[in-house]
Amino acid sequence: MSRKIIVAGNWKMNKNAAEGKALVEALKNELADLDFNEVEVVVCPPFTTISSVIEAASGSAIGVGAQNIHWAPSGAFTGEISADMLVSTGVKYVIIGHSERRQYFGETDATVNSRLKAAIAAGLIPIVCVGETLAEREGNRTEEVLARQITEGFAGISAEDGAKIIVAYEPVWAIGTGKTATPDIAQAAHSFIRSQLAGVFGTDAAEAIRIQYGGSMKPENARALLSQPDIDGGLIGGAALKADSFAKLIREAVAGSKN
Ligand code: PEP
Repeated sequence: MSRKIIVAGNWKMNKNAAEGKALVEALKNELADLDFNEVEVVVCPPFTTISSVIEAASGSAIGVGAQNIHWAPSGAFTGEISADMLVSTGVKYVIIGHSERRQYFGETDATVNSRLKAAIAAGLIPIVCVGETLAEREGNRTEEVLARQITEGFAGISAEDGAKIIVAYEPVWAIGTGKTATPDIAQAAHSFIRSQLAGVFGTDAAEAIRIQYGGSMKPENARALLSQPDIDGGLIGGAALKADSFAKLIREAVAGSKN
């Protein structure tokens, strides 16, 4: 099964409205001759930068996503943003369950599941993050953790909806640390994740689901990672904050996916 690769930039808490606009304009120039039939490109700015980025990206094939979503449609949830609010900005994607949200903001597999259901109901494409910490890897618990995150995070979702989800495997020990999982380590985790997805959604849906790698991916390692059979793209933090490095990484990813 051929899966279109997808490279998404997670800007985290970086770039105000003007900086976000400038970054997307520079990215459009850098990617002017890219064949977007070969790769889906997404940027995920902070909430307050979304509008200026949507405007800057209009007329290009660059998609825009949010970094979080609340599960309730509206109400007394100070500081939160609903699915309807996101849809009204024009975003098409939303990151759910990033490890920084799990680590600093009390995100659990149950809240991931609630947010995922809200995103699907609103027609947003969810990018759901899973991954083990260093202690979990060193304790030989990687598969147990991934299995739990998938079964509990994806509970109650139909195979039809499941097939549209994007999963990001982000080993926590590789995020922002400069330590990348080797292509073999990443492939082993991706293959395991796909087998778990098959258990939840069936083989056809699992084969359709795109699994991104995230964790210190950069232009220098993107090609080798993307040449692995179960690595279908990347979720990029640091290297997505500059147009030239993000564009270079995207081109390397496309080259790797053809190997
Ligand atoms: C991320 O936070 O999703 C990420 C992968 O960050 P970095 O690329 O900086 O490791």
